[in-house]
Amino acid sequence: MRRILGSAVLAGCLAVAGCAGDRLAGRSTITACMDPREAHSADIHRNLAALRRAPICYRRQEVHEGGYHWVFHVLEHTKAPNGPFWVLPHDSENAAFDAGVHALLTYGGGLLAVDAGGHRAFFGQDPNRNFSSSRAESRLCGSPRPAPVYTQAILAHYRDGKRKGRGPYLALHNNGDGHNGNGGDGNISLYRNGPNLTHWPGAATGNRALQDEDNLIFMAGTRPVSADPAARRRITALNRAGLSVIYKQVTPGNFDCSLSDYVARHQLGEYYNIEAQHGARDTQIEMLDRLMAVLGIRPLRDRSNANPFLDR
Ligand SMILES: [Zn+2]
Repeated sequence: MRRILGSAVLAGCLAVAGCAGDRLAGRSTITACMDPREAHSADIHRNLAALRRAPICYRRQEVHEGGYHWVFHVLEHTKAPNGPFWVLPHDSENAAFDAGVHALLTYGGGLLAVDAGGHRAFFGQDPNRNFSSSRAESRLCGSPRPAPVYTQAILAHYRDGKRKGRGPYLALHNNGDGHNGNGGDGNISLYRNGPNLTHWPGAATGNRALQDEDNLIFMAGTRPVSADPAARRRITALNRAGLSVIYKQVTPGNFDCSLSDYVARHQLGEYYNIEAQHGARDTQIEMLDRLMAVLGIRPLRDRSNANPFLDR
């Protein structure tokens, strides 16, 4: 992979509506593999020493759509590309990125991080409120402008030859302290009730950080948990592993154009988002390891079978 260093060749075109550079229709391009040192990303440079421990392909993906020029940083383990794949929509969440690097080195697979110059929003658009396929769908979340190219450019990473579209769909986020915290992300809390949200506290395991209201697994589906035995079993297993869960039943009335809601609405597969308080890197890594254990995804060092989601 490292043969092609530095040649920022525009190697792929994932556009939904043609690759001819139609700015209205939108287009997505992705480079060939580059050395991670070439990435214009503070997150990647902060983790360079760790990333050197594994064979990593770095690619820069760009999406032009609706007047936005998005940049995604994509990291993949070249020896174990079929491991779990993580989406990091928010560039202001450093602990989440560092946990993603831990995941990449420990379990293989890859991650995609949206570049927003270190901020949560990108020119006024929250990257995690930009998942929609049609005008009718984007209107559900109050946006007149759908983003099908953006949406498919991200989701295509779950459909390529390595991962075969079976997920699990995984995201990493950080949030503010409590649910009145600042930064606009403090609305995630195990103690905050909302319509169509149910809360499932994790068992006490001796790690008190896991019981912090801000550290939890976010799941979503279109049915209530009581009508979804598979989701209920997952929640029970996560709770037993000490992980708290919030489950959102996604409806046309509460669809918010987030990745979780999009995956649920389109029934793409299982979705898990690890939410941890800003700065809680070690706790988020602990949660990630516990989630992987519950899902049966083993570390590279002691597995013969890469990803059980590919064996179904
Ligand atoms: Zn976030």
